[in-house]
Amino acid sequence: MRRTDPQPLASRLAAAQRELDAFPKKTKVKDRAEKHRQAARKVARLHAKIRRQRLDHAHKAANFLVRGADVIAHEDLALASMVRRPKPRPAVDGTFESNGAAAKAGLNRSILDAGWGVFLDILAHKAECAGRELIRVNPRDTSRTCPECGQVAKENRDREGFECIACGYGDHADRVAALNIAARAGLAL
Ligand SMILES: [Zn+2]
Repeated sequence: MRRTDPQPLASRLAAAQRELDAFPKKTKVKDRAEKHRQAARKVARLHAKIRRQRLDHAHKAANFLVRGADVIAHEDLALASMVRRPKPRPAVDGTFESNGAAAKAGLNRSILDAGWGVFLDILAHKAECAGRELIRVNPRDTSRTCPECGQVAKENRDREGFECIACGYGDHADRVAALNIAARAGLAL
């Protein structure tokens, strides 16, 4: 039976880290009091748990994508970090992975960011094994470009989503990015 998590792992880790931080920093590991050791073990255990969950999720998501599409396009990770975009999104035959929703807390975000490279490695491996094509595209302005008329403006994006200031095209922001990624990959939808 699956144990239900009353608290998301990220906030449990944050709490455990705060507890650990309350102990004196410079204490050598062998001189630590039992409570201090317990706190350190708890942080390590939660880190490991998050790592396992992330890997499990990455495998499931990659399987889903590889099963459902012959061609998969995603933003180039190296380029994405250069242009300081939060995260690339895969676009698959018109479907897309919404990945912004969970990235609220800074801690949450860093966990997801660190996981993205791992996910892309897993995806690349599965795609190759299954004979699927994986296309990396330049992530520049994928969330600011209108998929309808090509207008590029940061004003196209607001808290509500995407609305083109030139032609009025409106859509969910993640879907707009996915459409642009697919178009750059040369995928006809
Ligand atoms: Zn437009």
